[in-house]
Amino acid sequence: MRNRKLFILLCLLIAVLVIAGCSKTKQTVTQPAETPPAEQTTPPKTDTSTPGSGELKVHFIDVGQADCIFIQLPNAQNLLIDAGNNDDGQAVVDYLSQSGVSQIDYLVGTHPHEDHIGGMDTVFNTFNTGKVYLPKATNNTRTFEDVLKAIKARGLTVTPAKAGVQLVASEGLSAVMLAPNAASYEDLNNYSAVVKVSFGQVSFLFTGDAEEKSEMEMLAGSGAATLKADVLKVGHHGSHTSTSPAFLRAVSPQYAVISAGAGNDYGHPHREILQRLSGIKVYRTDLDGTVVFTTNGQAVNVETR
Ligand SMILES: [Zn+2]
Repeated sequence: MRNRKLFILLCLLIAVLVIAGCSKTKQTVTQPAETPPAEQTTPPKTDTSTPGSGELKVHFIDVGQADCIFIQLPNAQNLLIDAGNNDDGQAVVDYLSQSGVSQIDYLVGTHPHEDHIGGMDTVFNTFNTGKVYLPKATNNTRTFEDVLKAIKARGLTVTPAKAGVQLVASEGLSAVMLAPNAASYEDLNNYSAVVKVSFGQVSFLFTGDAEEKSEMEMLAGSGAATLKADVLKVGHHGSHTSTSPAFLRAVSPQYAVISAGAGNDYGHPHREILQRLSGIKVYRTDLDGTVVFTTNGQAVNVETR
């Protein structure tokens, strides 16, 4: 009888120990189950390092009486439109380096005049370059030869710049050429590659030195709705050869940027063009220095440096 009581007591003790043991293993199971949520906080950190700022940044670099527009696309690619005069090459390279550029994905030489392609060979010799666009126009100058030599030396090929060429096309982001529309022109300025860059609700129109003839072709070809832009790079440094009333009406920009050198020999920008731009917020590299536009596709922020 005593043995039986002892046996029951022993059984109870074992049962208690087993239950205690079970609950202990249960605890060790729940612990690792609690760990994963803590680990799951790490992936968003790596997500922030994905390329692209999600912003479009357009730098109208002050290169005096010349053009140089550096565009940081929201997908982390870089687009350079023109590179200033021969003497500006190093300054352009320095500006790009300071902006963290290691590669130019798209390079557009609007037309073969020195004040647009002059610094381009220095850019080619410094940065890896993806696609190069030049209009099918020739110029018998040393500058143009230097650029062609630099392109060849880097093993690059030239894609002809003309209306309809799409540089970038992705959801909410595009860069497309609206000119030149004809195969040949009397004036080299009219060969200018005109590029429209759109991101979300905000668009920019870069016109090189395109003059009224090309402007009329764009109106007839692309049409006014396509020309509409928030920011206009005023054609030909603000010369009266460009920014014709009908073209300006079609673009109807909120901002206009004139790239010109202080006290230049041409009198750019011409007074009649400044009058035509009244009511539009105008920035001038000769007065404001480098002008930088930043947009998230909706709001626009302007900064002068
Ligand atoms: Zn020019």
